[in-house]
Amino acid sequence: MFRKILIANRGEIALRIQRACRELGIPTVAVHSTADAEAMHVRLADESVCIGPPSPRESYLNIPAILSAAAITGADAIHPGYGFLSENANFAEMVEAHGLTFIGPSAGHIRMMGDKIEAKIAMASLGVPLVPGSAGEVIDLDAAAKIANEIGYPVLIKAAAGGGGRGMKVASSADGLEEAWRLARAEARSAFGNDVVYIEKYLDRPRHIEMQVMADSHGNVVHFGERDCSLQRRHQKLLEEAGSPALTAAERDALGEVVTSGLSKLGYRNAGTLEFLYQDGQFAFIEMNTRLQVEHPVTEMVCGIDLVREQIRIAAGEKLGYTQKEVRFNGHAIECRINAEDPVTFTASPGKVTAFHAPGGLGVRVDSALYAGYTVPPYYDSMIAKLIVHAPTRIEAIARMRRALAEFVVVGVKTSLPLHQRIVEAPEFIAGDYTIHWLENFVGQ
Ligand code: ADP
Repeated sequence: MFRKILIANRGEIALRIQRACRELGIPTVAVHSTADAEAMHVRLADESVCIGPPSPRESYLNIPAILSAAAITGADAIHPGYGFLSENANFAEMVEAHGLTFIGPSAGHIRMMGDKIEAKIAMASLGVPLVPGSAGEVIDLDAAAKIANEIGYPVLIKAAAGGGGRGMKVASSADGLEEAWRLARAEARSAFGNDVVYIEKYLDRPRHIEMQVMADSHGNVVHFGERDCSLQRRHQKLLEEAGSPALTAAERDALGEVVTSGLSKLGYRNAGTLEFLYQDGQFAFIEMNTRLQVEHPVTEMVCGIDLVREQIRIAAGEKLGYTQKEVRFNGHAIECRINAEDPVTFTASPGKVTAFHAPGGLGVRVDSALYAGYTVPPYYDSMIAKLIVHAPTRIEAIARMRRALAEFVVVGVKTSLPLHQRIVEAPEFIAGDYTIHWLENFVGQ
């Protein structure tokens, strides 16, 4: 097992990883920007190192500074969390080249899945069903028009390097193709420095369903079931559930079988998530995330497993130690992502938190690095807390979420709490009857 783990991240996920390390008896090193000197992840770490100024490029994305922090503190492994360097194959390679362990998959698999075109080609060869679309890169507008005519409008132009919902534009008819093509490429160029795009059929009423997988370096792969992440705004998830209200246990088992056998053939290691769109009883793969995800706690609650602990054990060479049959699904879990933003205009609302009270009680979990007196900096993601509830049934989980949201107090910054309170009262949400487009209309009401 590792002597000391450096956590190359901040906020709630840095704390989440620290907690797993502490339970494993492994000391932690926090890294932080000058803006985060007073942050909770720094206060609670065994050691901390300042790695640069507020700008992420100069701190949380600063590979030489992070590797130096690991060297001077004697850390022998690095956990990247999510975001920042978690899907940077060069970083994973450099960590290993410095004699440290990267707690994640191989650089080769990170690279493969980071290119969405390559990911789709790999998944198709493993028997995983795809959203209909171009077989690879679409070179020019003529080629785009040809494919769009073949698969039928509406179509979606997507960036091969895409992430965070950026570099994605819909063309509802041939008239809109040129504009969507131009906008998607321009956004991809500015966000990712890469304007390679591909085309998918734009599905009009799918759900976003993803499978959580864990694989060790001895060829064992299990899945921990699905999460339904259909409640999105601008392709960004706001509320997630495990399991999906739309799926039967038989559908889950069948998808799980496809996914685990595919990843086993690939020789994949560590945590991973395969994302699908689900419409008319059909699953279609859209992308794979080769890291821990924001919404991982809902899976932890229903499976009674610590996914970060599993990642660390696997990176240290341990075996999973259980089979698919031993993975049990118990009850229902829901997560609300609470952002420091205006609940109506969605503009970020950084600033000083003057009062903070987290809900508690049976079946309630809060993953947050907030405290009263903390100043939410303007430089990073606006998510300030994840509120997770677990209950025997979905309807009880909704009641528990309502109760927990009502107990939650954050004063000083605006938050998305009022929006979440509206969502959990909405008849469509209560009925589990929603697609990825539902929330966009709901917030506009
Ligand atoms: P990113 O990596 O930017 O998150 P994804 O490929 O995972 O991009 O897609 C993000 C979201 O965009 C999906 O959850 C879904 O809501 C929407 N989306 C992606 N592909 C399609 C599609 N072919 N049809 C309809 N919606 C889509």
